[in-house]
Amino acid sequence: MKLAMIGFGQAGGKILDKFLEYDERHDSGIVRAAVAVNTAKADLMGLDHVPQENRVLIGQSRVKGHGVGADNELGAEIAEEDIDEVQGAIDSIPVHEVDAFLVISGLGGGTGSGGSPVIAKHLKRIYTEPVYGLGVLPGSDEGGIYTLNAARSFQTFVREVDNLLVFDNDAWRKSGESVQGGYDEINEEIVTRFGILFGAGEVEQGGDVAESVVDSSEIINTLAGGGVSTVGYASETVDNDTSGGSGLLSRFTGGDEQMEDSASTTNRITSLVRKAALGRLTLPCEIEGTERALLVTAGPAKYLNRKGIERGRKWLEEQTGSMEVRGGDYPVPNSQQVASVVLLSGVNNVPRIKELQEVAIEAQDNIDDIRDESEENLQDLVEDDEDELEPLF
Ligand code: GDP
Repeated sequence: MKLAMIGFGQAGGKILDKFLEYDERHDSGIVRAAVAVNTAKADLMGLDHVPQENRVLIGQSRVKGHGVGADNELGAEIAEEDIDEVQGAIDSIPVHEVDAFLVISGLGGGTGSGGSPVIAKHLKRIYTEPVYGLGVLPGSDEGGIYTLNAARSFQTFVREVDNLLVFDNDAWRKSGESVQGGYDEINEEIVTRFGILFGAGEVEQGGDVAESVVDSSEIINTLAGGGVSTVGYASETVDNDTSGGSGLLSRFTGGDEQMEDSASTTNRITSLVRKAALGRLTLPCEIEGTERALLVTAGPAKYLNRKGIERGRKWLEEQTGSMEVRGGDYPVPNSQQVASVVLLSGVNNVPRIKELQEVAIEAQDNIDDIRDESEENLQDLVEDDEDELEPLF
């Protein structure tokens, strides 16, 4: 599936950069165009893969290239005001060659949090291609204002996109790591999951796996209907050496052993699907009640066990209670891994979102109280008790 990606804000830009790196490394052909938008000049300069001409600095007259300092209302205002500059960069995209737009941002900050719903709304008004969002929730240790920003942006973003794919930093943060190093690893996890998902729809039909290869329309149909999505992933290393070997699934490689071991290979694939769906999702949630799902099994064609995949798909139907569970292959000839990616679209039972909203409301009340008391408190501080001092003028 070919995407026009727009990275908004620092997180959006860095994840976009990672997608470009992934695309180059895997030759997956998913990023047809990449535009990074920011109010902070330094963040745009820090990118490695986004072409210079596709880096758009907005809000220069308001914030002089220094960013909006986690003020997402200002981020949204600036995005509205400077939408023509963003459109200017999008004009260079051959939109007839893309299957969808993907707007990426961290929802806890200012520029991306405020700007990404604005650009999504704009794109939906102008183009007929679907517009998806990839929104990153902040870690719970980031503090009240980030949580409040994320909760407000989440509400707005979901409304403006055809589907919001969510990644929760809180579920993925590792203790004892520098924030930067931590984000690098997290961003790698993000692009691996979404790279396989979108890359699956990019495989040419043909050859001996033609009928079961995922088509981009299956991704689009799974995401259609809107709402919030989460992605699960599990992988196993295989010995992809044609001379045979001792990898986990290697005895499935052919000959008599294929017959002998097909039952265990089927089980391995099904258990990989279970691991993907029940393991750590990009947004942790209850999978029961999911409206639609897509199961992608990626790896060398000889390891893509049809029966295992079908069983995995049926299992997913039972677990989600959805009758709309699609499945397909993503043959990757030279890979040393078999991976299962599960896209759960239209998830409704997400305790993390409810928790985020509660903390956000608390933070909002707290900010309001402090603001209300602020003038009085300042007066108490500045004025002397007996009112004996006089200001100069
Ligand atoms: P903006 O530039 O004003 O849009 O704000 P940032 O993108 O710097 O930060 C917004 C939020 O995104 C932060 O609160 C973090 O939760 C998250 N974030 C920042 N950088 C990264 C990153 O590289 N990767 C991920 N996954 N999250 C990030």
